Amino acid sequence: MKYLSCVHTHTQFCDGKNTMEEFAREAFARGYRSLGFTPHSPLPYENDWAMKEEDLAAYKAEAARLKNEYEGKMEILCGIEWDLESGALPQGLDYAIGSVHSFSKNGVHFSVDYEQALLRKVTDELYGGDFVALCADYYALVVKSALRRGVDIVGHFDLPTKYNKDGSFVNEEDSRYLALAFDAVEEILRARPGMFFEINTGVMARAGKKMPYPHEKIMKRMLSLGARFVLTGDCHALSHLDGGYEESLRLLAKCGGKEVYLLTAKGFERQSLS
Ligand SMILES: [Zn+2]
Ligand SMILES: [Zn+2]
Repeated sequence: MKYLSCVHTHTQFCDGKNTMEEFAREAFARGYRSLGFTPHSPLPYENDWAMKEEDLAAYKAEAARLKNEYEGKMEILCGIEWDLESGALPQGLDYAIGSVHSFSKNGVHFSVDYEQALLRKVTDELYGGDFVALCADYYALVVKSALRRGVDIVGHFDLPTKYNKDGSFVNEEDSRYLALAFDAVEEILRARPGMFFEINTGVMARAGKKMPYPHEKIMKRMLSLGARFVLTGDCHALSHLDGGYEESLRLLAKCGGKEVYLLTAKGFERQSLS
């Protein structure tokens, strides 16, 4: 089975390396059914990765132009990666991925996925070296984010493990760590049965990990509780398109998954893994 879609794509409107037009051309050349754009939602503080509030209208206009250009050939979706620290969800979008990237501890604001050295520093200085304690704060916010009205897909569930390729932050199968992740999964699915989560391969292309988010153990727990999955590349460059998809679908099958979902203009479409 070929999964010909990506609905998590960053472009010129935030921290992507390619334009929406370039992504559309490349996705179409690869035979994609659907391509969804998800600029980082505007944030109330200085940063170098999110869309600016004043660019929202231009973003929507460019998405509308491309929708028109590819009509009948490939579905273009106008979404957003809605950060928990952003304000209200902008109106008139097709869907939202709900994500947590940053939060504060003891008055210090930081991002968990910005730089490995920063993550190490905040773990040591704000959490006394206890990375699982940092994850406890993160997962509490992921639950809050996932339950916001308007969120369609939970983004990169276990993002703090981005720089854990060598296991130096946490053993991702450690029971204290997993209990936190499992509790968050349960809370989300209790409130929103059948919720969609990403299998996000961005961590493979951008941080050199061998497997996507979420970790195999978490994916299994999600499946056992009725979660559904959408596969995305969290693409910031054309070269990220469908990177890691085959491994991810194999992992999903290994975890007992029977299906994966593809987002189209008509909603989520089920695809059997077999
Ligand atoms: Zn993100
Ligand atoms: Zn993203």
